[in-house]
Amino acid sequence: MSEVRLHDTLTGEFRPLIPLRDDVVGIYSCGPTVYGPTHIGNFRSFLFADLLVRHLRWRGLPVRWVMNITDIDDKIIRGAAAAGIGIDELADRYLEVFLADADSLRMTRPDVLPRATEHIGEMVALIATLLERGHAYRTDDGSIFFRIASWPDYGRLARLDPEQLRVGERVESDEYAKDDVRDFALWKAPKPGEPSWETAIGPGRPGWHIECSAMSMAHLGPSFDIHTGGIDLIFPHHEDEIAQSEAATGQTFVQTWLHCAHLQSSGTKMAKSTGNIARPGELFDAGVSPRALRYALLAVHYRASLNHSDASLAAAAAALDRLDALVAALANYVEARADDPTVSGLLSDARAAFGAALDDDLNISEALAALFDLVRELNRRIEARSISTDDGARALALLRDLDQVLGVLPEVGDDLAAELQAMLDERTAARAARDWAASDRLRDALLERGIAVEDTRDGQRWRRLVEAGGG
Ligand SMILES: [Zn+2]
Repeated sequence: MSEVRLHDTLTGEFRPLIPLRDDVVGIYSCGPTVYGPTHIGNFRSFLFADLLVRHLRWRGLPVRWVMNITDIDDKIIRGAAAAGIGIDELADRYLEVFLADADSLRMTRPDVLPRATEHIGEMVALIATLLERGHAYRTDDGSIFFRIASWPDYGRLARLDPEQLRVGERVESDEYAKDDVRDFALWKAPKPGEPSWETAIGPGRPGWHIECSAMSMAHLGPSFDIHTGGIDLIFPHHEDEIAQSEAATGQTFVQTWLHCAHLQSSGTKMAKSTGNIARPGELFDAGVSPRALRYALLAVHYRASLNHSDASLAAAAAALDRLDALVAALANYVEARADDPTVSGLLSDARAAFGAALDDDLNISEALAALFDLVRELNRRIEARSISTDDGARALALLRDLDQVLGVLPEVGDDLAAELQAMLDERTAARAARDWAASDRLRDALLERGIAVEDTRDGQRWRRLVEAGGG
């Protein structure tokens, strides 16, 4: 049994993670709408889900992670029309950008990335059930709405009074004749110039909310463990998902709801509508390292709002410098002496503190504090040369182990690392050949790339000076 407990938005309580099944922990994350490059506010929400997935796997749990791709909705239809291309072409283009950015940010690839247009059949079946059970109705034009009056629990997730719902809210489809202004569209009748499908419930296209119910249940079953998203999705998107899913199946849709707070920039929520968005590609072009951006987006607890700034990126880069320097020092560490009997306790305590912090609703601040306490202690012992070569190797193995969860250390085979390693190797060879001119030239070239080299009795040691903080 895992010791993991998570803050559930629906009950407002911390719930122990008790998986519904032995063989799989089902996690569904609302994914990107692929009508443009995904901004880093969205990536914050995806990376918190990545942290959750990595942590649970590190704990030995068999996670199945599903993240949908919304490839049909109003924004995609408008974007495709504006670009003079089909919706598939637009969606394919930005799905590729999303995946490339996600890879740069070392987001674990979800086990399934279902596309909405490939699940129309499941959506239609769900809507047909809701019609049959009286939770949905058809309007004159052939659109289908969920009847909120038929679902007394509506509003529980968002803690809203169902009677007050949606009054004053922008009603997305005034043109449809709904019975009740609160009701939401499950199926939209075809309109000229819009894609539509011929189906058993008539021609048309799905509303956005039904997509996530159909895709999550198709890949995880009618009841699954964890659903994640940004807090802006609580209402109406997730409220609607619960209503339509539970009304159709009669089962509890999701055990635990997790919501990630907003990413702020200059004090306001990062959103396309406010125009203060930053995209990964733009930041990378400006010299921000993907690892530093990942660290910056992960290092603040997911339920706390995070301010994106040059200072937060610089702090992330500085933290990575310390980790990189320690990894490099341990990789080069040689000391022929007996093992220090206190090292194994030091390492196992650090591992336990790191894991316990993440078990506690992904308390990343405490987990990082445990990690950096260890970094400080190891640096002290390396400096004092009080640990053996084997102790150093065990410490490095532990850092790699913890990095299964964090995903921020330089990877072996990393292009940049490989290039730098080649230069470092060349310099080692130059020094062995007593070619001091070449050695100095390479030292200067490395310095230009932000790598300081130092010659020690163990040979050359290097550390990263400053990673580009970006502008
Ligand atoms: Zn969703």
